[in-house]
Amino acid sequence: MKTRVDLLIKNGLLLAHPCREAHPQWTIAVKNGIVLDFGPAENLAQQYEAPTEIDAQNCLVMPGLVNTHTHIAMSCYRGLADDQPLMEWLNQSIFPAESKTNPDQVYWSSMLSCAEMIRSGTTTFCDMYLFEQEVAKATDHAGLRALLGEGIFGFPSTNYGPIDKGFEYIRQMIKDWKGHPRISIGVMPHAPYTCPPALLGLAAKFAREQKLPLVIHLAETQTEDADIRREHGMSPVELLERIGFLGPDVLAAHCVWLSDNDMDILARHGVRVSYNPESNMKLGSGTAPIPELLARGICVGIGTDGSASNNDMDMFTEMDFAAKLQKVHRLDPTALPAPQVLRMATLGGAQALGMESLIGSLEPGKAADIIILELDKPHLQPLYHLDSQLVYAAKGPDVRDTIVQGKILMRDRKILAFDESEVFAQIRRIHKKVLSDVGKE
Ligand SMILES: [Zn+2]
Repeated sequence: MKTRVDLLIKNGLLLAHPCREAHPQWTIAVKNGIVLDFGPAENLAQQYEAPTEIDAQNCLVMPGLVNTHTHIAMSCYRGLADDQPLMEWLNQSIFPAESKTNPDQVYWSSMLSCAEMIRSGTTTFCDMYLFEQEVAKATDHAGLRALLGEGIFGFPSTNYGPIDKGFEYIRQMIKDWKGHPRISIGVMPHAPYTCPPALLGLAAKFAREQKLPLVIHLAETQTEDADIRREHGMSPVELLERIGFLGPDVLAAHCVWLSDNDMDILARHGVRVSYNPESNMKLGSGTAPIPELLARGICVGIGTDGSASNNDMDMFTEMDFAAKLQKVHRLDPTALPAPQVLRMATLGGAQALGMESLIGSLEPGKAADIIILELDKPHLQPLYHLDSQLVYAAKGPDVRDTIVQGKILMRDRKILAFDESEVFAQIRRIHKKVLSDVGKE
């Protein structure tokens, strides 16, 4: 008598854990959204039956990728303004356009990014933006997993207006999404250069009362470092330590401009870091000292940042840049090798989001967040080292099937979770609106 499960993924090359060996011709059994079992295909064929089976012959089966820093609703600004320094790009292009955004725009732009993530193998992401309720609705609809938070600023927000209304908005989000199997809420003050210290302190206090993670942009550019030093007489990291902001519940994005002392501080407080190589390269921000952070035992994940500063959300190409940026910056081909990068994009990202007991690797009892890549492709053969192939050769479109919480979101490159053509129609409408918002119509 066979045990009935929901889904069997059969005969694939199974990479269950980014640091362990992959097994050819293995099958994975999924029930109630979690991994129930895996092993050699012939053994599992005797044990399990399922109404849905996916044949993964000549395919790689692996945990979905984790994008630890993004602003998915910025997809509507992809290519709107490029080739500018961060502060100019923000103040002259992005903030003016964002001052005219609205819930509808945020929802459909988020759906566009959800389609892009499903198509390129990202199953979990961390997002900070305006009208984050709409991002949550899109994430729920698309079937992805996420840690989400409304951006907190020291100036009035297009969404909630003054800051006390901001905390009300976050409280409402916490209430609305409590107990959701895939959506969790964080407290996300934007950055030390957009939030005064008192507000950062308030955000940290609020997060700790609510027992929620804190997410912030930190030490992204040389300008930020210089401005904070001029105003406060210390580095951005030292400032956050001084006001009691830092702790193991903090995820800091970018962390490019760090002194040795800053890195020691981050390590001492157990702060987790999101490395955003493509955004840092494109905005000319610099190279984050990732090997030095890892050497201090700091948990590092990888993030794409928003599509307006990347300009895509493909975590495979992000892994490629993550490794190569370190090598070219140091003139050292041994810096940040492929196995470390693959770990950062899976289990490292899961740890960065505090979700390592649920995602980041495939183990019995963990979530069935699974991607399947076709390996019979010219650029993926022959296969000597799987981690090298995934970091240096694979691309998002190599993902054939995407599964989150046991639900098939994409099968044979067709998105099943929602109607993608409707998303494109809505984005064409929003494109016209954005052009008119910025006076380019
Ligand atoms: Zn960002």
